[in-house]
Amino acid sequence: MDLSSSNISNNSNNNTSPLSLRAVFLDRDGVINLPIIKNNLPFSPGNLNEFIFCDGIVETIREIKNRNYLVIVVTNQPDVARGIKVKDEIEKIHQYIKKHTLVDEIYCCYHDNKDNCDCRKPKVGLFLQAQQHFSSQRSQCSQCSQINFNESYMVGDRKSDMLVGRKLFLKNIFINYNYHEPAPSITDYDYIIETTNANTNTNHLKQILNFVI
Ligand SMILES: [Mg+2]
Ligand SMILES: [Zn+2]
Repeated sequence: MDLSSSNISNNSNNNTSPLSLRAVFLDRDGVINLPIIKNNLPFSPGNLNEFIFCDGIVETIREIKNRNYLVIVVTNQPDVARGIKVKDEIEKIHQYIKKHTLVDEIYCCYHDNKDNCDCRKPKVGLFLQAQQHFSSQRSQCSQCSQINFNESYMVGDRKSDMLVGRKLFLKNIFINYNYHEPAPSITDYDYIIETTNANTNTNHLKQILNFVI
């Protein structure tokens, strides 16, 4: 993919440096696809048969791209390390997402806590991988062609998404499904999208476009 012409050089009308890259980081389950809800807690699909796009997300991603952001998915899939899910099936889901949306890349942590990796959110490894990858695609100036986290966003439905966003000074958008788990505190996010029920597709993700400008 060549970012040198389309995304960057015609970006000089806003207050961003024309050479800085901006990104919208999207959590996967609850943002790209419907989570599977059991006891008001979210679980991830184990294969494509269980995968359903959230209403409006494909169009929302397209519009985010029109606004000159990279769109990067960052997801924890610890059920692979736990032996509950098969990595090949998860990768098929990710190929499917890439085929049907304009996402630039998907970064996935397959570890569990006991692996003590650097990439399981709320750790920042997936985001640094993305920053490294997209800056190395542009040769002239490695400093100014990095993803500028200050100008970027994190969209997620769990506390860990908001905590990692805060570590990197991303602008946080919290999608509140009212899961039966500790919610992020009001200081952990910048914007909130309220929803009624994660089991129903209500087109609520289009509200992302109210915040990502
Ligand atoms: Mg999620
Ligand atoms: Zn990891």
